[in-house]
Amino acid sequence: MNKYHLNTNCLHAGYSPKNGEPRVLPITQSTTFRYESSEQMAKLFDLEEDGYFYTRLQNPTNDAVAARIAALEGGVGAVLTSSGQASSFYSVFNIASAGDHIIASSALYGGTYNLFSVTMKKLGIDFTFVSPDISADELNSVFKSNTKAVFAESLSNPTLIVLDIEKFAACAHAHGVPLIVDNTFPTPVNCRPFEFGADIVVHSTTKYMDGHATSVGGAVVDSGNFDWTQNDKFPGLTTPDESYHGITYTERFGKGAYVTKLVAQLMRDLGSVPSPHNSFLLNIGLETLPLRVERHCENALAVAKWLEGNDKVSWVNYPGLESSKYYALHKKYMPNGTSGVISFGIKGGRAAATVFMDSLELASIATHVADCRTCVLYPAGTTHRQLTSEQLTECGVPDDLLRLSVGIEYADDIISDIEQALAKV
Ligand code: PLP
Repeated sequence: MNKYHLNTNCLHAGYSPKNGEPRVLPITQSTTFRYESSEQMAKLFDLEEDGYFYTRLQNPTNDAVAARIAALEGGVGAVLTSSGQASSFYSVFNIASAGDHIIASSALYGGTYNLFSVTMKKLGIDFTFVSPDISADELNSVFKSNTKAVFAESLSNPTLIVLDIEKFAACAHAHGVPLIVDNTFPTPVNCRPFEFGADIVVHSTTKYMDGHATSVGGAVVDSGNFDWTQNDKFPGLTTPDESYHGITYTERFGKGAYVTKLVAQLMRDLGSVPSPHNSFLLNIGLETLPLRVERHCENALAVAKWLEGNDKVSWVNYPGLESSKYYALHKKYMPNGTSGVISFGIKGGRAAATVFMDSLELASIATHVADCRTCVLYPAGTTHRQLTSEQLTECGVPDDLLRLSVGIEYADDIISDIEQALAKV
């Protein structure tokens, strides 16, 4: 399927119906699968044969959608999860445990920052947060002997910093660890992190991939490029797993080792599997992803340019603007556009932000980005609410920041709505 363009893969990868089979990916809404011999079932449990036995581990609808996302990212395999949070957690926990250390960009979605700095810290995994703008020398200096991965967002939420993926990948590789990239905002339509050296990609599919705000979900995609055997940092992959009859994932599954371990161990023990119905909805979203992403970007650029000229706006952050510090990086890593998300500062801070948001008629106030309808959020009062003012500053979320997720409505209608709401401030 990879001989086709991404736009074609969005419609066809992962599911090729045979003669007389449904044209649309069916929903296999079944927890279990029937077998005629207990021996066959035993082989499935021993990972000796491929096949379905329980939906927490594998399900035809989930697997088809995972294969589609793997194709879009150019990876060897993918796993769907029930949320983006679960994907971020699994992507790291699959290769790190108590006593290990991870380097993460500080420009992260607030939930991910909290997951790493609070919850995973309680599990004994230590995180060092670094600026995404850090120099290679400074980045090299924060690695420790127990560092197991580097984690960053390709386009950060809500700060919209474009990651220098090659720089981060080179440093990670120089220290024998993988780079994990959260590619939620640009999606593979606009950015393909594996082509720049990233090893693992995670997604909150809740965002543009679903696109219609119907289903929370996530995905972890493996490039298959990282050599887990190059050092002794990843014993979970390179030494026998006693909970699977002594299987060594790298020996048995080669390039599929990371994803197989993630399913066989983490999904088995922790769950977080999406419902097949949600995967079906995600798949419908994927089919039109390139069309929607293109329109989101066109509209967002028009809105960002308009905001730049408005005197109630103190600053506009959109990497597609020539005034953006990240314009050059965007041209390199996401030349066709970044996303539909813009952040901007409103003069008058929190009070002005409230009047503006409450005056919008077309755009909704929603704790969401990246669905086809325009919405707006005040991060310091919502998604990043748990963070202290120091953490807010570290994440680059000032308290005049509004995040606008520009939808695919007619651009002039979106601008008129913003214009009338700003006029009331
Ligand atoms: N990663 C990014 C960049 C996000 O924006 C989000 C949610 O907003 C997540 C991860 C978490 O995803 P979910 O809400 O699907 O758990």
